[in-house]
Amino acid sequence: HRYMKDQNHKISRKIVNMAIEEQVSVIKIEKLTNIRQTTRTSRKNAKNLHTWSFYQLQMFIAYKAALAGIKVLEVNPAYTSQTCPACSKRNKADDRTYQCLCGFHTHRDRVGAINIMRQPGADGNSLS
Ligand SMILES: [Zn+2]
Repeated sequence: HRYMKDQNHKISRKIVNMAIEEQVSVIKIEKLTNIRQTTRTSRKNAKNLHTWSFYQLQMFIAYKAALAGIKVLEVNPAYTSQTCPACSKRNKADDRTYQCLCGFHTHRDRVGAINIMRQPGADGNSLS
């Protein structure tokens, strides 16, 4: 737990420092669900611990971003890992590489990041 907390502090610091360097005004993050439920059982289950760690990382990003005057927006993550950023067709990535029939291919995490960037905020607030 302490190791994950330490890692999350380091990762969130890197993300917010990069956002400052790149003069980013908004950081979009995936809106996580069922956090109450997962935190209660986080000690019992590796997947829940993973979810809890990710939630903690988001909290650290939000805290450090706020200090830097950067807005953090939660977005609905539905289909963000499946939708092709080039043609909007939905595909399932079988491994780390996302491949679409239109020819677009990249690391699956990059597909998620591009789509989260393009999503409006979960509160309906849309910022480019
Ligand atoms: Zn495509």
